[in-house]
Order: sequence, then C-alpha cells, then structure tokens
Amino acid sequence: MNKQPVIFCDFDGTITENDNIVAIVKHFDPPGWSGIVDDILSRRVSIRDGVGRLFALLPTARREEIVRYAIGNARIRAGFAELLNYCRENGIEFYVTSGGIDFFVYPLLAPFGIPEERIYCNGSSFAGETIEITWPHPCDEHCRTDCGMCKTTIMRRFPNDRYRRILIGDSVTDFEGAKLADLVFARSHLAERCREIGMPYVPYETFHEVVDGLREALQTGRA
Ligand SMILES: [Mg+2]
Ligand SMILES: [Zn+2]
Repeated sequence: MNKQPVIFCDFDGTITENDNIVAIVKHFDPPGWSGIVDDILSRRVSIRDGVGRLFALLPTARREEIVRYAIGNARIRAGFAELLNYCRENGIEFYVTSGGIDFFVYPLLAPFGIPEERIYCNGSSFAGETIEITWPHPCDEHCRTDCGMCKTTIMRRFPNDRYRRILIGDSVTDFEGAKLADLVFARSHLAERCREIGMPYVPYETFHEVVDGLREALQTGRA
C-alpha cells in the first residue's frame, strides 16, 4: 500500500526568513524581554511559559501597530508558492505547524490558499491590558516539553503505517518532530542538531531546493 505523503512545515525562520516573535519584542523593546528570551533559549522556562510572558509585556493599546509591524516586517522565503503548487500537483498534504501567533501567521499565509484547518499555530487575545497568548494545541500525554503549540502531538495524528511524514524546519523546536519524520528538510540550528546525532536530512535555503528534494524522494520511493 502506498503511504500518503504529508508535510509538516514550520513557520518562523522556515516559511518566513526570520523569527517573528523575536523581531516583534526587539522592535517594541518592552523592559525585561531579553532576559525572558535568554530563559527560553537556555531552557530555564518552557516555550509556552516564555512566549506567554513575552507577549504579556506588550500593551493591547498598541495592537494595530504591533500587528502592522509583524506583517510588514516578515519576508516569505523564496519558492514557497512553488512548493505549494508542487504539493497540490502531486497529492502531498501540506500542514503548517507553527509556534507563531495567529495575528501574524494567518495574514502572512492568506495569499497562498492553504485551508485554515491545515494551519496550526497559537492564538491571542487582546481583551485585557496586555496581549494574552492562548494555546489551542497543547502537548498530548506523550510530550512533556510544554511546547505551547505541540508539533509532535499534531504529527502523531498521522500514524506512520499510513503516512510518509515529511518535516521542514529550522530550529531546535523542530527537532522532536524530525525524529518522527521519514524525511527531514533542515537548515540552521535544526541542521546542526541532526548532524550531532547523525540523523539524515536534506539541507535547503529556499523552497526550490525542497521541491527538488521532494521530487527526488518521490522518484526513489523515500516519500
Ligand atoms: Mg522556526
Ligand atoms: Zn509538546
């Protein structure tokens, strides 16, 4: 039986060239943000805890400015539309699994026609004094990382007896998902982590290279 290929694609640093959360806090520069980022990077706090605390530093009174900055600042990595076309033409299911926030993820993806139910990211509320992040996709019982948006929880809904799971990512937050995947496209810190443990991956800088890699994998039966 042929397995259904399915892609799980990260957003920040993968679909967009930079990390949008860091860009937002850097730009608005509320007191205390850099200590929280250090705490997240050194894993003293979970991603969910740290990201929640970062956005709690930003007043909802500046909503419009913050949303406008986030959307205006982001750049989509080259070849993304081509990758989506390639997936449509070849029956590859495409999911976005993002630790980013709805108020920039959905608008930035709007031009590309990905069904909303295939975009997983965190939510936000502007009802209080400061931005509150909501967490509609928490870790299941197999994950103790307190991810916020749990990528491996989503991937486990696509069991590997029926799916060829393909991951595209750039950072340590994609690493656990990479371990579950049959095929990994990696750049930056994710590529480093894969090299450290000898996990095979396909390097990429643009999505044109991902399309080439997928074409080859489909031909050789790896996907
Ligand atoms: Mg990323
Ligand atoms: Zn998790």
